Amino acid sequence: MTQLIHRNLRITPPSAVCAFGMYVRDSDGNTYLDASGGAAVSSLGHSHPDVLAAMQAQLATTAYAHSAFFTTDVAEELATCLAQNAPGDLNNVYLVSGGSEAIETSLKLARQYFVENGEPERRVFIARRQSYHGNTLGALALGGNEWRRKPFAPLLMDVARVSPCYDYRERPASQDVQDYTAGLLVELEHRILDLGPQNVIGFCAEPVVGATLGAVAATPGYFKGVRALCDKYGILFIADEVMCGMGRTGTLYAIEQEGVVPDIVALGKGLAAGYQPVGAVLARDHIVERLRAGSGVFQHGHTYNAHPVAAAAALAVQKVIRRDALLSAVTMRGTALRRMLRDAFGNHPNVGDIRGRGLFVGLELVQERETKRPFDPDLKLHAAVKTAAMACGLMVYPMGGTADGRRGDHILLAPPFIATEADLGQIVARLSDALARALEAIRP
Ligand code: PLP
Repeated sequence: MTQLIHRNLRITPPSAVCAFGMYVRDSDGNTYLDASGGAAVSSLGHSHPDVLAAMQAQLATTAYAHSAFFTTDVAEELATCLAQNAPGDLNNVYLVSGGSEAIETSLKLARQYFVENGEPERRVFIARRQSYHGNTLGALALGGNEWRRKPFAPLLMDVARVSPCYDYRERPASQDVQDYTAGLLVELEHRILDLGPQNVIGFCAEPVVGATLGAVAATPGYFKGVRALCDKYGILFIADEVMCGMGRTGTLYAIEQEGVVPDIVALGKGLAAGYQPVGAVLARDHIVERLRAGSGVFQHGHTYNAHPVAAAAALAVQKVIRRDALLSAVTMRGTALRRMLRDAFGNHPNVGDIRGRGLFVGLELVQERETKRPFDPDLKLHAAVKTAAMACGLMVYPMGGTADGRRGDHILLAPPFIATEADLGQIVARLSDALARALEAIRP
C-alpha cells in the first residue's frame, strides 16, 4: 500500500477540501473555525482574493527563476517592503522557504560574519531552555525543547542554555519583576563569561515565545538588557520572529515593542500567511557589509530562494495588512479576545494564566491555580483539548507539559487578523465547551 506519511503515523487526519475566511471544511462536511491560523500562519484567513490574484498574475508571467541566474521585481519589492518597515538598519533581506530555513540561514550568516571578521574561533550560540527554533538539525540544536532533541542528540551542535523569561511559572512569588529580569540578565552575562565572549557568536530568542510556551512575552527591560550585553561583548542578537512576527502581536515586528534592534531577524509563517511556504532573514548593514568587503559571497543557497510566486504572495499579504489597517485591528481584537477569555475562564480552577500580545494569546492549564501545579504530562491534556475542540468545530494549537513540571499544558490561539468580535465570541464559547469535554476525558 502506498501512503502519505503523516505526523502521527497511527492516525490519518481529516482531509481539508475547502477553506474560506475564518473556516476550513473537511471531506466529511465538518467545518472548523480556525482559531489558531493553523500554527499561527493564516493571518489573512483563507482564500483571500487579493493574495490569490497576485499569485495568479505572477504565475502567468514568471512562475520560477533560479536565484543563481536571476532576480525578479517581485522579490526586490518584497525585500524593500520588509526592510523599510523594519526597525533600525535591518536593510538586507534574504528570502527562503520557511521558518527552519530562515533559522539555518541566520546561523550561517552569523557564523560567516565572524569568520570574515577574522574571528573564526567564535563557534557557540546561546539560546534559552523551553525554546523552539525549527526542526532541521541546526535549528533543532538551537532550540531548548528536550523531547524534540533527544532522538537526534549526537548529531546536534552544542548550544549553551540560559533560562527562559517566563514570569508566570519561573518568577518566585517573593521576587519582584525587576529583580527577576535583572537575575536573568546576570545569568546570561555569566554564561557569556563562562564560555569566553571571544567564543560566542550570538544569542537567539523569540521576542514573544510561541511554540513551546503559549504567547509568553518578556518582562519589561529584558530585551534592552539582552541588547546591552550583546553590545558589551560583541555578540550578535538574533530575534526569531518566525511565529510572533508579521503583525501577529500588533506591530509588524514583535521586537518593535521592546525598543531594540536585533542584528538578525528570522521570519516565516505569517509572512505569506500560508498562501506559499516562505521565510526571510533580515540583517543589519554591518553584517552584510562585512561579507561584501570580504569574500563577496554568502556561502548559502537553496533551489527555491526568492521564489517569485512565494514573493508575490508575501508582498500581497503585506499590502493587505497596510491597506486594511490590520495592525491596529490586531491590537484591538487581541484586547477584546483576552477580555472575553478572562470573562469565561478568569475563575476557572484549571486555567492558570491568560496572556499574550495582539492576536497571539496563550492559556496555561493547571491542576491547581494557587500552586500552579501542572497536570501530569502523561495525561496529555493539551491533546485532549485539541481533539475535543475539533469535535466542537474549532482549531486550537496545543502544547504539552514537561515531565520536570517546568511547564504546564498550553493552548495557543492565533486567529486570522480578519476575525470579527462575533468570531472571537464563537472561539471562546467553543473553547469553553472543548475544555470541559477534555477535562472530563482525562478524569480517572
Ligand atoms: N521558529 C519558531 C519560533 C517557530 O515557532 C517555528 C515553527 O513553529 C520555527 C522556527 C520553524 O518554522 P518551520 O516550521 O516553518 O520550519
